[in-house]
Amino acid sequence: MAARIVPVEPFDFIVLGGTGDLARRKLLPALYHRMRDAQIPDDARIIAAARSSLTRKAYQTQAMEALKEFVPDFDKDIAARFVKCIDYVRVDAESGDGFSELKKKVEKDPRPIRAVYLAVGPSFFAPISEQLKKAGVLTSKTRLVVEKPIGHDLESAKELNARLAKVIAERNIYRIDHYLGKETVQNLMALRFGNALFEPLWNRYHIDHVQITVAESVGVEGRGGYYDKSGALRDMVQNHILQLICLTAMEPPSHFDPNAVREEKLKVLRSLEPLRNGSLGDVVIRGQYRGGKAESGYLEDAALEESSTETFVAMKVEVANWRWSGTPFYLRTGKKLRARMSEIAVVFKDTPHSIFDEDAGSVRQNVLAMRLQPDEGITLSMNIKDPGPGGMRLTSAPLDMTFAESLGRDDLRLPDAYERLVMDVIRGDQTLFMSGDEVEAAWTWVDPIIETWAANTDAPHPYDAGGSGPEEALALMHRDGRRWRDIE
Ligand code: NAP
Repeated sequence: MAARIVPVEPFDFIVLGGTGDLARRKLLPALYHRMRDAQIPDDARIIAAARSSLTRKAYQTQAMEALKEFVPDFDKDIAARFVKCIDYVRVDAESGDGFSELKKKVEKDPRPIRAVYLAVGPSFFAPISEQLKKAGVLTSKTRLVVEKPIGHDLESAKELNARLAKVIAERNIYRIDHYLGKETVQNLMALRFGNALFEPLWNRYHIDHVQITVAESVGVEGRGGYYDKSGALRDMVQNHILQLICLTAMEPPSHFDPNAVREEKLKVLRSLEPLRNGSLGDVVIRGQYRGGKAESGYLEDAALEESSTETFVAMKVEVANWRWSGTPFYLRTGKKLRARMSEIAVVFKDTPHSIFDEDAGSVRQNVLAMRLQPDEGITLSMNIKDPGPGGMRLTSAPLDMTFAESLGRDDLRLPDAYERLVMDVIRGDQTLFMSGDEVEAAWTWVDPIIETWAANTDAPHPYDAGGSGPEEALALMHRDGRRWRDIE
């Protein structure tokens, strides 16, 4: 079965921050792949804008270099066709220079769809949007894509949302969380809501707990200045991990459309049991990696004398509603851990009684593991009879739920999340983007944790670079008679 690709209408896609890392590493390769698959017409236009003085030709050369570096299956003919669609204009968000030039470019033979992607530092989101409005680039139909981070606390997120609301309607704002563009995350919704099998079991009566892990093997990699002001809670939990909880815990939406899906996610965020002051206790653990013989520690990587910024967080979270009450969601994320791995694991309860004798071995809990990276895929661990002679012996085997082979697509390339999300912007589909209310609800839950830490003089728990996180995070699970899945 071949993948179905629906071509989009011609568009103008303006990338503010076109010379930056995000544009080079993700946006240009995403658009290239969509053009290669004939989803983007040749008369689509990409207008990169940034502070550097570059001619169109010079930017096209830079774009070509970026494609060579970041597209594994680079094809020079397709790349040559692709870069022809690219134009460049110099803008300066501070002085306002260049925005009228941008307006002239985009108004010359405008395409039916216009989208602006803000691939710039967060302090520019509001001023650039205002400049775009003033220059007439933002029309009532223009779609505006905003990257994370959206605020650094509730107050700043509200302020940003309010400033954006003055220049553009909420229905045209696309707050991107690239985790939601991942194939596995969308498959989670397909599995839950496209099958009668899971939904009856998807609750406190049948699920023992949920574990969400976002582990990185790298440290702060020269981004220490930014990271030290952020930390793991703001950088990972407030956005990506809370979104993953939402999709795992939400009620079935009435329809797979933006309003219905976002309303259900919002209800989950508002159901999170608040964690603050005394209730933080042993259920929120923060850590910071330290160096060893071969590995550098956080202070060294970030070039700091001292810091209480967390590079690791583990927590036990309660979704306080009828479906989930009493079923903990354990979250953990950190830098310089044993491996790079992101997954959602739904761990089902034990069978009520084992009919097998001791020689058969133990009946293991079923686990539905949805792996986001690397090697995206979904497996359901099942207890089966160990094949062959030897009587009844049980073994746990993973059932591959991605079905690439049975769909006859075992060599299928899974598109990068940005490919999917950028095309959703062009199609005008906000289902996989966050609403302003969601962002604010997430900060409402996160802020008290940050405030509690700020008022607390305890340092984060140290953990070894290349390990699994601090001992205290292991204890968080052990106390409940459970254990974290291996980071591998
Ligand atoms: P970056 O590499 O520092 O690029 C910043 C871009 O902003 C450059 O194109 C720069 O242009 C432009 N810029 C800076 N000051 C400007 C000004 N006064 N006027 C106009 N343009 C200006 O940053 P990045 O890593 O691409 O990140 C961009 C945004 O995406 C950030 O909000 C970041 O948090 C978010 N993000 C990035 C990634 C990633 O993988 N990089 C992932 C997720 C989210 P010049 O180079 O010409 O000065």
